[in-house]
Amino acid sequence: MSSTTLTSLASALLSGSVKVVDLTAPLGPDTPVLYLPPQFGKNTPKVAVHTISEYNEDGPFWAWNWLELGEHTGTHFDAPCHWITGKDKENNTTDTIPPQNFVAPVNVIDRSKEAAENPDYLLTVDSIKEWEAEHGAIEAGSWVLMRSDWYKRNGSTETFLNADENGPHSPGPTAEAIQYLISKNIIGWGQETIGTDAGSAGGMNPPFPAHNLMHGAGKYGLASLSNLDQLPPKGAVLIAAPLKLVKGTGSPVRALALIA
Ligand code: MN
Repeated sequence: MSSTTLTSLASALLSGSVKVVDLTAPLGPDTPVLYLPPQFGKNTPKVAVHTISEYNEDGPFWAWNWLELGEHTGTHFDAPCHWITGKDKENNTTDTIPPQNFVAPVNVIDRSKEAAENPDYLLTVDSIKEWEAEHGAIEAGSWVLMRSDWYKRNGSTETFLNADENGPHSPGPTAEAIQYLISKNIIGWGQETIGTDAGSAGGMNPPFPAHNLMHGAGKYGLASLSNLDQLPPKGAVLIAAPLKLVKGTGSPVRALALIA
């Protein structure tokens, strides 16, 4: 990148011709958390905020808190070591991923209409190819996000998980779609639901393909994204950096997009 490019970007940020879109849901005690059925083991706790002091006898001039917070809570980043398939990959933890990978171009596949009609909607290879025919090929090193407008349900755990006696009903990718995106050498896959997979992904082959295959290929995930309806199909730049947790499997992020 030449200094002219950065100077232009800096001017565009100051003038407002490049805008910053917040792709992050509020993070607090009301943040929905995943509920896994007992056969899958333990669950992540809800966020808890503990006051240390609030301008009082515990700290007269200052306010601060300490947090109880799962790595995979709210709008968050999945590192390759999150899944068993990615456990031996190089640079697979939040503290070892090269920082260059936290800033990348982003493709946004809008399937909000489909998800509104069918909460179990699955993105297919053909659907991605249709999108590429309209908007251009997905480039190596870019993010691919699916817009579903599911973030509008993020206010309540019930509507966000959308579970019944048959399990959760939320949109996501097919295993073949994930394989296709890996063949394009994307940097990662993200969506607006509680995780990177569909509600029905436990029954897929392999189960949870956005985790199993993406992390097995050393790629990243982004979950519980918001405001994807504010992004163009192509042309935005995504900034999503997890906390530098030592050996972290993921982390809440403040995900931002630059749009012009
Ligand atoms: Mn996760």
